[in-house]
Amino acid sequence: MKTEILEARTDTAAGLANIERAAACIRAGGLVVFPTETVYGLGADGTRAETAEKIYKAKGRPSDNPLIIHIADPQDAALYAETNALYDRLAEAFMPGPLTVVMQAKDSVPMTTRGGLSTVAVRCPAHPVANLLIRKAGVCIAAPSANLSGKPSPTDAMQVAEDMTGRVDIILDDGSADFGLESTIVKIENEGSLTLLRPGRITPEELEAAAHVPLAISDAVTDRLKEGEAAPSPGMKYRHYAPAAPVTLLDGTVEQCIAYIGSIGEEKIGIIAYDDDVALYQSAFPNAKIYAFGKKEDELSQAHLLFALLRRADKDALVHIYAPLPRKSGIGLALYNRMIRAASHHILHL
Ligand code: AMP
Ligand code: MG
Repeated sequence: MKTEILEARTDTAAGLANIERAAACIRAGGLVVFPTETVYGLGADGTRAETAEKIYKAKGRPSDNPLIIHIADPQDAALYAETNALYDRLAEAFMPGPLTVVMQAKDSVPMTTRGGLSTVAVRCPAHPVANLLIRKAGVCIAAPSANLSGKPSPTDAMQVAEDMTGRVDIILDDGSADFGLESTIVKIENEGSLTLLRPGRITPEELEAAAHVPLAISDAVTDRLKEGEAAPSPGMKYRHYAPAAPVTLLDGTVEQCIAYIGSIGEEKIGIIAYDDDVALYQSAFPNAKIYAFGKKEDELSQAHLLFALLRRADKDALVHIYAPLPRKSGIGLALYNRMIRAASHHILHL
């Protein structure tokens, strides 16, 4: 398949024409990668089983790991899912935006799209290109992240092209994704209870304040699934991206980290370091690859950089990667959730 990379913008005639072409491609049953405010998505018509099949195939994703359907207006959720007052409160507070809500599905969403579940995950992206693409397509767009299964979610069109050239019809390019980690996913259990399945830009603290119901945080957000335990979200069953080199998350001061890494004495190491610590690491380990990760308090920069850094570190053929352990609150929880997976839960408290 020939893959076209088209510049997508909503403020130029050429950019708009490219979005129109991509929308026509979706209507014709094609595959279009599009930018969102979280990461790039691999989209197709969400109302047809055969287009969902094409997505699973292009990604190499098991077909029991369901796709999120993307809508242009929060109220369109009612076309595809049993919405309720709790959904309305979440929509009012966070949509359009980086929040995905899991609810009971309606028959308009094929079983294939929802991985055989009775529920469906719905998101209304705020990114102007994504939003316009859905509007022009006139159907909901089923879209997982636009990476090959087992690779990090792509945060720019170059990373998408690495994974998806020859597998999709169109890649809409709008530069670097704003947030850089996938959407927050919550499940509405009933009118009175909400469970966090995946942390993201919308934090647990913000969710509780807007939902006016308690938020349960699924154990799998911070811990390994226990032997034989059912996964609350199918994606949790599958091995999430981890670089080829082992990753260790270090919990300690920069001095403790330097002393520990020095005591191991490996060659070809990579260190993901807060900007404030880069110079110290460079002088302690002149041969190491040091990846600047943003300032310690600047979790938005860290979220923005994480997946691109992990892709880069993989290309640098390292024997070991060290990274700081994020906190478990606010946006830190989203970083923690992705980084413990990249580290296969290998954390060292110094
Ligand atoms: P991605 O789009 O690549 O971020 O993957 C979508 C994530 O949403 C996967 O981890 C899925 O397991 C999860 N997901 C999609 N639909 C559902 C659902 N109905 N219930 C629970 N999790 C879901
Ligand atoms: Mg994904």
